[in-house]
Amino acid sequence: MSHRTLFIAGNWKMNPASRASAVALAEAVKAGVGADTSVHVAVAPPALFLEAIDKAIDSSPLGLAAQNMHWKADGAYTGEHSAAMLLDAGCTHVILGHSERRHGMGETDAQVNLKLHAALAAGLIPIVCLGELLAEREAGQTESVLQTQLSGSLAGLTPEQMGGVVLAYEPVWAIGTGKVASPEQAQDAHAFIRRTLATQFSPAIAARVVVQYGGSVKADNAHGLLSCPDIDGALVGGASLKADDFLGIIQAAQAVTTHEKARA
Ligand code: PEP
Repeated sequence: MSHRTLFIAGNWKMNPASRASAVALAEAVKAGVGADTSVHVAVAPPALFLEAIDKAIDSSPLGLAAQNMHWKADGAYTGEHSAAMLLDAGCTHVILGHSERRHGMGETDAQVNLKLHAALAAGLIPIVCLGELLAEREAGQTESVLQTQLSGSLAGLTPEQMGGVVLAYEPVWAIGTGKVASPEQAQDAHAFIRRTLATQFSPAIAARVVVQYGGSVKADNAHGLLSCPDIDGALVGGASLKADDFLGIIQAAQAVTTHEKARA
C-alpha cells in the first residue's frame, strides 16, 4: 500500500469569467468535500480571485494554489506576483512550470528552478509540472525529456526540501485535448520519475514524493489512473470547472484510498 495521500488539484486556468462564478464553484467543491481528509484537495483559481476563494473555502480542508509566481521578492516586474503576495492572499500551494507557461510563454527549467527555491523559502508547497510533447514521445524521447526537466527544475534542492515538493507529470499531448494517457503509459512515466528521484535525491525521498498525473483526467478515467502504484493524484484542468465533474474525480480518489486501506 502506498503511504502517500492522494492529492487532487483543480487548475482553473483563466476561468471562470467572474468572481461570483469562481466563489460559487469553490463553495460547491467545499460542500462536496465536507470534512473528508482521506484525499488532499486544492483549487487553483486565477490570481485575481485568490482572496475571494480563500474566504469562500475558509474552515475547510481545501488547499489554495496560485497558478504561477515570480521568483523575486519585489521590484520592477510588471504583471507578476511574489511568493509573499500569494501567501498574503491565502495560498498554500503554487503551480510552477505548467506546460502552458513552458510552451506558451517560453518558461525554462532554470526559471522554474528559481521559482521553486523562492516558493519553498516562503513556505508554499510547489506543484512542479513536467511532461513531453507529442513529437518527443513519438521520437522515443519521453524519458530523456523528463530527465532534463527533473535535473533542471529541481537543481540545488536538499533531499528534505524535495520531500515537500509535489510533481505533476503532464504529457503535453494529453492536456486539454481529451486524449488521456493510458494507465500503463502514465504509470511507466511515473515509475521513471520515481527512479530518477531515487538517483537524484535518495530512495527514501523518491518514495515520499507525491506525483500527480495531469492530462484530460475525468471522473470516468480517474479510477484506472489513480489505481496505478506510482500515480498519487491528479492535476485537473477542464474537469475542475464543474463542481460535479471535479467531485467525481475526488470520489474516485477516495474509493482508491478506501480500497487500499481495506487491503492494508
Ligand atoms: C492542466 O491544466 O494541468 C490539465 C491537465 O488540463 P486538462 O485536465 O484540461 O487536460
